[in-house]
Amino acid sequence: AQPNSLEARDIHYHLHPYTDARKHQETGPVIIEKGDGIYVEDNAGNRYIEAMAGLWSVAVGFSEQRLVDAAARQFAKLPYYHSFSSKSHSPLVDLAEKLVKMAPVPMSKAFFTNSGSEANDSAMKMIWYRSNALGQPQRKKIISRQRGYHGVTIASASLTGLPNNQTSFDLPIANVLHTSSPHYWREALPGEGEEQFSTRLADDLEQLILAEGPETIAAFFGEPVMGAGGVIVPPAGYWEKIQAVLAKYDILLVADEVICGFGRTGNMFGSQTFNMRPDIMVMSKQISSSYQPISALMINERVFEPLADESNRIGTFGHGFTCGGHPVAAAVALENLNIIEERDLVGNARRVGGHMQERLGELASHDLVGEVRGVGMIAAIELVGDKATKAPWGKAGALGALVNDLLRQNGVISRNMGDALAFCPPLIITEAQVDTLVDVVKRALDAAAVQVKG
Ligand code: PLP
Repeated sequence: AQPNSLEARDIHYHLHPYTDARKHQETGPVIIEKGDGIYVEDNAGNRYIEAMAGLWSVAVGFSEQRLVDAAARQFAKLPYYHSFSSKSHSPLVDLAEKLVKMAPVPMSKAFFTNSGSEANDSAMKMIWYRSNALGQPQRKKIISRQRGYHGVTIASASLTGLPNNQTSFDLPIANVLHTSSPHYWREALPGEGEEQFSTRLADDLEQLILAEGPETIAAFFGEPVMGAGGVIVPPAGYWEKIQAVLAKYDILLVADEVICGFGRTGNMFGSQTFNMRPDIMVMSKQISSSYQPISALMINERVFEPLADESNRIGTFGHGFTCGGHPVAAAVALENLNIIEERDLVGNARRVGGHMQERLGELASHDLVGEVRGVGMIAAIELVGDKATKAPWGKAGALGALVNDLLRQNGVISRNMGDALAFCPPLIITEAQVDTLVDVVKRALDAAAVQVKG
């Protein structure tokens, strides 16, 4: 990097999340300067299809003027206020009402935070508070899943079921347990059908609950479709069977809709796509297309009532964030949700998403592809060194990183989680743009095959 360039200063001063700091010293940053629809451009003038919508988050694309205007209007009117101690402001009232009315199952209240991690963390605290308020202090254990991703705070990283979020930090904390992941392609037994696999996973969950004592289990957290775990679409019957077990032992269901929410799976919420009936829904990312940091929880009456009931009171629910439900973020979220509705971006996720699934599906026969999976406008290609044994090429993740680099060199930003290469473009993408994207992916796979197979 040139002395004193942005690149050199980034290397010198900036510690990046989820980045190998030593490697970053050599490779330096990719500096993104501007956005336009589904594209972003770096400071060398290279234009990329942003096939991850940033971090699974920009529904309306990277140049939506209405969100800029909504932010500017709110900045001019009231740039900051909070919602502690009964204070409120109009964007937040409007947003709370909108969310509760959008909910696919009856919800009572919305609570606002700044990130997906904070929202999950807050959900855990609400659940613990509720158990205490109900006079069930032993009911504190929370079950999430291997490969699940729920964030990086100490509590939400504990829920996250990925090794590099856990072992290096001495996590999980007490009271967080993990059950099996619904990764059918990787974890089904030979000859096991999807329904059978789902039954086995529901049995695993029930065994865990019985071993721990059902009266000690408060809640189960799950993403409708796992995102960062590798875009794991639940197999047939999965959520029905899991929910039957939860209902049997009166365990709350928390749907982490941080990626799935607001259209991604072809319905407004992932819970609709998979017939989930959550007690708490956690939302972020596409709520504001991430133009502003904001996240929210919706809770149903079952969760709210013990928090409010005077006879149960164990002290005020002592929780909240200075910038939770920030007025500018709330105004941007409202306008973003209006755009999603007016332009039927949920329908687009279904229609153009269907086209994307079909076109990516054509790559399943490629030598380096073990599986193509997805739903709506979210998909992954699982790369393998050997299709028959599903073994990786060399070290696990090496092929994913190679193809991911090739894609970037050819104008596509994707994301590899190990050997799972994810695609989660803005919901405004067109069929023609999907075709361009898939053509680049195919060429990158062919180029990788030459390097790998010689
Ligand atoms: N939950 C899910 C399903 C996520 O995918 C993420 C982030 O990718 C989070 C929670 C954490 O969100 P944040 O990074 O805003 O803390």
